[in-house]
Amino acid sequence: MSRRPESDTPRQPSQIAILRYLRVHGPAARIDIGTATGLSPATVTSLTADLMTQGLVQESHPATNGNGATNANGTHGSTRGRPKVLLDLVPGAACVIGVKLTINLIEIALGNFKGEIERNTEHSIKTRDLNAQELIDLLIKLIDRFIKDNNDIITTPPVGISVAVQGVTDSNSGEIIWSPALRQRQIAITKPLTERYGGIVQMSNDANCIATAITQNTALHGGGDFAVIMLGYGIGMGLVLNGNVYNGHFGTAAEFGHMKYQPDGPLCNCGRRGCLEAYIGDYAILRDAMGLVDLPDTNSLHPSEEQMMDLVARARNGNEDLADLFRHAGKILGYGIANLIALLGPKQIFITGSGARAYDLMEPELHRGLNLAQVPELRRGPEITHLAWDKDLALQGAVGQSLLRHDENMFQAGNGN
Ligand SMILES: [Zn+2]
Repeated sequence: MSRRPESDTPRQPSQIAILRYLRVHGPAARIDIGTATGLSPATVTSLTADLMTQGLVQESHPATNGNGATNANGTHGSTRGRPKVLLDLVPGAACVIGVKLTINLIEIALGNFKGEIERNTEHSIKTRDLNAQELIDLLIKLIDRFIKDNNDIITTPPVGISVAVQGVTDSNSGEIIWSPALRQRQIAITKPLTERYGGIVQMSNDANCIATAITQNTALHGGGDFAVIMLGYGIGMGLVLNGNVYNGHFGTAAEFGHMKYQPDGPLCNCGRRGCLEAYIGDYAILRDAMGLVDLPDTNSLHPSEEQMMDLVARARNGNEDLADLFRHAGKILGYGIANLIALLGPKQIFITGSGARAYDLMEPELHRGLNLAQVPELRRGPEITHLAWDKDLALQGAVGQSLLRHDENMFQAGNGN
């Protein structure tokens, strides 16, 4: 009896689906992979055999009770009560590098094929002193040193480099359009890094990387469209539609912070007036606070975490003028979220970032703003979740983005139609 022709089941997308499932869910039995991906048991067996031959997937035997017969081809052993054989990604099948660029800080991480961060380093650098060429030269120097310092585990060249940048980026062209971390605008990042390292180099803003990290974390996210709003120096957003981070046709989509609240409102760091960010961003709150309280030696352009924490503490300790600033920021955030819901109707909205330090002060007014702005008949959620700020999430997402692209590349190369 002949097998169903393989052409009925395109192998590449199915293999990518299996890799992605294992990366998100960890070790899994063939039957569970089949259920999750909709592939038949025979197809799962055939495809995972291919993936094992390619050294991408391995059998992972759960701890056995004593007998522990570690036979290499464990699939056809005795059937009596043996533990399910699980499949897992081979961590060393490939490695990728994630880079994160924020104001005065460059971080570099090494991710394995499972998406786990194995090593990372931080460099405090006056990023705003760098021009475009100095930035590129520095990134190359730091990445070179990182690869050299970790040559005990980086035994093959990284298959991808993904750069997460604070600010507005064009993920199609690989350019930083504008970043608060840099003085110069329009800096091409991916081209010189591709010339230096080959492989897949990509770049996106940090909010998109965080969105990617959330899609790969089943504890945070159970499926469906979602947005993650990042509060901090500026206001960013990552948008996930149909399982993918949405960058828009021009590669610059989801700039939530630069949607307008009042066209002739206060000056935004983008150079225009009245953006949501010009009311909610750290610099905006500090700028308004300077008119209300005495602040020592303030550089309002780049408030420090200590300065912001000081404002939050004073607001919590009864300074009603300062508390009003946070409430007002919360209300305007609520208006912005109402627009987002009206336009896209996501299932869930996460709010995170260092600026969420004052979320408790902002939240009641956020919901008031949301209720005032929403059409009552269209009010159907979504769930708004405050996600405790985890500064490693962007790097985690950068690593994840590299691996997603690497999976596609591996299987597209052999797809000769
Ligand atoms: Zn703006």
